[in-house]
Amino acid sequence: MGESRKSFYITTLGCPKNTADSASIHQSLLEEGLKPSLSPEDSDFHFINSCTFIQSATEETIQTILTAGEIKKSRDQKLIVVGCFSQRYPDAIQQDMPEVDLLFGTGKYAEAGRILREHFPLDFGNQKEFNKEMLSKLSVSDIVENYSKPYSYVKISDGCNRGCAFCIIPSLRGKFKDSTEEDIITQTQRALVSGAKEICLVSQDTIYYNKSEEKLAELLKKISGMQGLEILRPLYLYPDKKTYRLLDYFPEIPKLAPYLESPLQHVSANVLKSMNRSGDFEFFKDLYNKARAVMPGLEIRTSFILGFPGEKAEDVDLILRFLEEVKPEKVNLFPYSPQEGTKGEHMKGKPADREIARRVNLVRELHLSNLETIHQERLGKTYDAIVDEKAEDGIWVVRRFQDAPEIDEIVFVESDSLKVGDIGKVLIDSYQEYDMTGTWVES
Ligand code: SF4
Repeated sequence: MGESRKSFYITTLGCPKNTADSASIHQSLLEEGLKPSLSPEDSDFHFINSCTFIQSATEETIQTILTAGEIKKSRDQKLIVVGCFSQRYPDAIQQDMPEVDLLFGTGKYAEAGRILREHFPLDFGNQKEFNKEMLSKLSVSDIVENYSKPYSYVKISDGCNRGCAFCIIPSLRGKFKDSTEEDIITQTQRALVSGAKEICLVSQDTIYYNKSEEKLAELLKKISGMQGLEILRPLYLYPDKKTYRLLDYFPEIPKLAPYLESPLQHVSANVLKSMNRSGDFEFFKDLYNKARAVMPGLEIRTSFILGFPGEKAEDVDLILRFLEEVKPEKVNLFPYSPQEGTKGEHMKGKPADREIARRVNLVRELHLSNLETIHQERLGKTYDAIVDEKAEDGIWVVRRFQDAPEIDEIVFVESDSLKVGDIGKVLIDSYQEYDMTGTWVES
């Protein structure tokens, strides 16, 4: 392939699902004959895979587009905005953001190369010169932002049928649709061949895969047996009875991470009902207790939305009680802000923003005090861990199997001999607010 090959860079915002989508864009652009570049400044095509999940995500997307608009002034570059933000606001982008040369929404990631070729009749080089076998080895699904990460995201479905009242995702991503098993296995294989040791399965509603927790368990077992895989981490398990039953299979899945991400959003049955979600305090407590019982050492990530319309002081007290009794190790807190186009948009009874902020702080304080206890219990213990990256000379970012990439706690380890992707044991020596320092004790 000659010098005529155009280059691309993908800036990915938002959640790991977007990272998986960026991997599809990446693959499609490679197949179309483009080559990846290492920075937006060096690329002919700069893609922004956008997010609009909450207000702050929308603001970050807008800021990123404006910054990219400045970058493109210095060279002949095309700026392409894709994903949730362009799905939601295509007219506004077309009218108010002249720096954007092309946009397309969700569901077209795998066609990015074709779409580009249709809009920019440029010389992309001769596609036929590609050696397909080499391409499949090169096209790691996680070489989107960084070429040296030992984990990769694989998407097992898209869309969601649940219709939570605060959530815009179903109208952006559409109805739930499974990926085929063949696709999932191919993507996983590609990532493993390219050096990933951990696979995170992502989707909007993972437990809904094939509408059956047995089928999901079968898929997990199949992936768990694949050569090169060391850690398997299904993310986003909706806290319902299916997830409760799926836990029975956990001990049979050899490479499964001791981890449960099951966002509750609330624990008050009244608030959950207005959110159009299921569950209550007792069910969630049982669910989390069961997860810890079937897999000793497992840690839990959850999230709560504070200030949903109708939320009363006693509902917040229930969340506080839940944190006291169950102590999930990782907690995300969102102050509720109504999203245009959701069922919650016109609901009455939203607490004032200052009151919502107060509630968020109350819950955060309790979680931070829990975290102090959790950290104390981790001191002096050793954990299975993976080396994610070099922080600086002689200092490595290590992650326990109990922590998901890019979101959970990390452990800083001093060493002259580690390398990215090493798997071994880390001994926890100390901690700061969230992160820890430790010693690599065994490879
Ligand atoms: S389960 Fe609820 S919060 Fe999650 S994507 Fe579906 S509608 Fe949104």
